[in-house]
Amino acid sequence: MSRKISFTTLGCKLNYAETSTYERKFISEGLEVVPWTKPADICLVNTCSVTEHSDKKCRNIIRKLHRLNPDAAIVVTGCYAQLKRQEIEEIEGVRFVFGANEKAEVVPAVMAYVNGESDRRRKEGDFFLAYSSGERTRSFLKVQDGCDFKCAYCTVPYARGESRNISIADAVRQAGEIASDGIKEIVLTGVNTGDFGKTTGENFFDLIKALDKVDGIERYRISSIEPNLLTEEMVDWIASGTKFLPHFHIPLQSGSDTILKEMGRRYDTAAFEHKISYIREKMERPGAPKVFFGIDVITGFPGETEELFMETYNFLKDRIRPAFIHIFPYSRRAGTPAAARKDQVQDSVKTSRVERLEALCSQLHAEFIMANKGLKEKVLFESSDKNGRMFGYTGNYIRIDRPFDADAVGKIIDIEI
Ligand code: SF4
Repeated sequence: MSRKISFTTLGCKLNYAETSTYERKFISEGLEVVPWTKPADICLVNTCSVTEHSDKKCRNIIRKLHRLNPDAAIVVTGCYAQLKRQEIEEIEGVRFVFGANEKAEVVPAVMAYVNGESDRRRKEGDFFLAYSSGERTRSFLKVQDGCDFKCAYCTVPYARGESRNISIADAVRQAGEIASDGIKEIVLTGVNTGDFGKTTGENFFDLIKALDKVDGIERYRISSIEPNLLTEEMVDWIASGTKFLPHFHIPLQSGSDTILKEMGRRYDTAAFEHKISYIREKMERPGAPKVFFGIDVITGFPGETEELFMETYNFLKDRIRPAFIHIFPYSRRAGTPAAARKDQVQDSVKTSRVERLEALCSQLHAEFIMANKGLKEKVLFESSDKNGRMFGYTGNYIRIDRPFDADAVGKIIDIEI
């Protein structure tokens, strides 16, 4: 009887892509994948450590898995595993903990355990190749890992290590494999995706140009890119009729130059605004869909007074007007320069700022939808049939809902928004 393994993933798209790769590898080793709520011999948890809350969630899930599967070997990997190994090793049921630089050891070590062998470990280099294949229509392809930027609030560089990447040739090969599964859209992921190339001496622009030529893949999105790494040259090329969609996820983090400087970000509000205007100018034509901008913002960073918060609020409302704001209350992460500051913002103040930004986001999102209403767009419908409905996304990331039609799934179809 084959041994069973379950997977639980927390956190970002990168983790989901990595978990998908673990799934494929364990299946090819002969294990049967079961839902995490079912009995299993191995329970793999891919963790996140973005906030204190994520750490707590990881611990709770590990404990819950142990209650459900008291005899299972629990395997913990991901950012939390990298940062708090000892804390995790003390939780009952945990058999293996793999940090960010040990991902290549997960499958060999677990299979050695399953096969009753001693500690058989083999390295596959320090870059863990990953793409997700759960969807029939869209796949997340990991091209980069780690970060060298060291923003004052962020533990990611410590958790995931230095910036590194697969080669362009490997990325193209993986995109080809994804296309051969019939998948038409790829989302490029990484921790600091635009910083691609440190390991191989290549660069992100050459990567996207090479990927654009892969037969079978019709659309690409970039999961997130730092504003200073998305160059005007890239924007000009993307706008010239490539497979890269008018959808950008760009971290702003603060609309106050004082706070941006204290965060150690590598741009100011003027440069950020210029980049957004440049993209709009190059990519938006009369009667054509508007560019979707999803913007990350952290509120409640130490020293963020009401006045500085309002600089962010007004910058978003009056200058950037994104289609969506991803709002994060600042989370004090031990070991970071920002955590040591005395001028922390009270939680109640952070909550109120989050609520105000959420209200602004709802208003801006509704305006974005209305600005696109009646325009012609292409939608890639996803496979799920939810209560007789199916959904898909336009190139500029508007979710479209239609009665389920099996023939339309996985196809790119013209619609009116
Ligand atoms: S760019 Fe800054 S926020 Fe993003 S992962 Fe690197 S250090 Fe963290």
